[in-house]
Order: sequence, then structure tokens, then C-alpha cells
Amino acid sequence: MIDLHCHILPGVDDGAQTLEDSIAMAHAAVAEGITHILVTPHHNNGRYFNKREDIIDKMKALQLEFEERQIPLTLFPGQEVRITGELIESIQKGDIQFVDEEQQYLLIEFPTMTIPQFSEELFFQLNKSKITPIIVHPERNQVFIDNPDRLGTFIERGALAQLTAGSYLGYFGKKIEKISKQMVEANLIHIIASDAHNVTTRTFHLKEAYAKLEKNVGIEKVAVYKQHAKDLINGETISPFPISKVKKHKFLGLF
Ligand code: FE
Repeated sequence: MIDLHCHILPGVDDGAQTLEDSIAMAHAAVAEGITHILVTPHHNNGRYFNKREDIIDKMKALQLEFEERQIPLTLFPGQEVRITGELIESIQKGDIQFVDEEQQYLLIEFPTMTIPQFSEELFFQLNKSKITPIIVHPERNQVFIDNPDRLGTFIERGALAQLTAGSYLGYFGKKIEKISKQMVEANLIHIIASDAHNVTTRTFHLKEAYAKLEKNVGIEKVAVYKQHAKDLINGETISPFPISKVKKHKFLGLF
């Protein structure tokens, strides 16, 4: 399995704090059957700033530690980029690490509560430069939770979306579990990733999420999700499923 969103680099953000933390995460990943991880430290989110070249250096150092310990896990450089008005400039400066070597795919994080007004225009500019933004965990953004069809508009214009394994499993609460399911059903999701930060409160759960998805939406769709992860890291084009509107279920007085 490939994990395209993971805070396994030590001491760079709110993920692994020490090398020991990273090693523990690596063992947990391998135990689930994960073979490749895109390391994706937070960048420019107001708290953490991790430029491309720093990520590459630290990733290489961590890969060596894994080799010394014979941990069968291959790392690739990535970045979880907070959406800001300076993104294009940061790309031009070389601070941004893409998912793939060809620099086509980019993991973009929205703030928790809002979608900045400049987002549509920024995505338009990215598309013009042949860059496809992958919106990370839209199921945890309040605007998308309230109006998932808003995510549909971004997808229709060429963006992709990554669902976090733990969200689908209910580790972020019932509401996020429900919206995750709806987003999957409406084909608003293209890849599943762990967004693991540690081995306690926010571990991988990737195997478990794929198992639940297999039960709910079938083995074929799970195979497509896994293939997408591979394709994105390899810089290949993917052909997403046609999206549909999210059905608004009425609560039946259960809550
Ligand atoms: Fe993350």
C-alpha cells in the first residue's frame, strides 16, 4: 500500500517529534502493509514552515535510519501546503514540493472553518500551469461539511480530493464519518491516505479503511483508489469517476 499523506518526519510539525516516534510510526505502517510513504510536513499554515529542500534532506536522513534498521519502507518527498495567496510565488521560488517528480500534483490544505475567497481564482491559475491541486481531507472542512456540493464545484474544475482513513472509520466523530461516506458515494474522493501523526491518537488506519470501503463500495473501487495513489506519485493522468450530487438525508429524530 502507498500512503500519500503522513507526518512521519521527526521534529518538523505536529507529527513525529523524535526519531523514535518516526521509527514507531514506520513499524506501525509496515504492520498494516504500507510499503511507500509520501512524507508530507505542514507548510505555511501559520505555525510550520517546511521548504522543499529541507524536506528532501530530512527525508533522506530518515530513509537511512530505516535502512540501518532494515525497515522495509520507501519514502518520497511531499508537502501539505496550506492554501495562501502567495502559493504561485512560493512555487516559482522553489519552496513547494509536489507529489510527483513532474510537478503536476500538489497536496493543498484549506483552513478548518473556511474556504478563502481567492481559492477558485488560485485553482484556475494552477490549472493554467498544468498543476492539479489535491484537496486534503475536505471532510474535515466546515464549509464542505455544510455544503459538499461546493467540493463538487472544485472537482468539476479539475481538482482532486483525498479522504483521511480515520474520518471514514469514525475516529473524528459521527458527523465527519457520515460526510466521508457521502463524499465517497458521490465520487468526490480520489484517494485515501492516513494523515498519520503518531501511533496513539492519530495512527494510520489505512488497512482498516480500505477494508470498510471494500465492504461498502466494493473491491473494484478500492482497487481504483489504490491505483490512483500509485498514478499520482508517478505523475500519471487519472480518469476520475463522474461525480453526483450529495443526497441530503433527513435526520429521523435519532439525535
Ligand atoms: Fe496532514
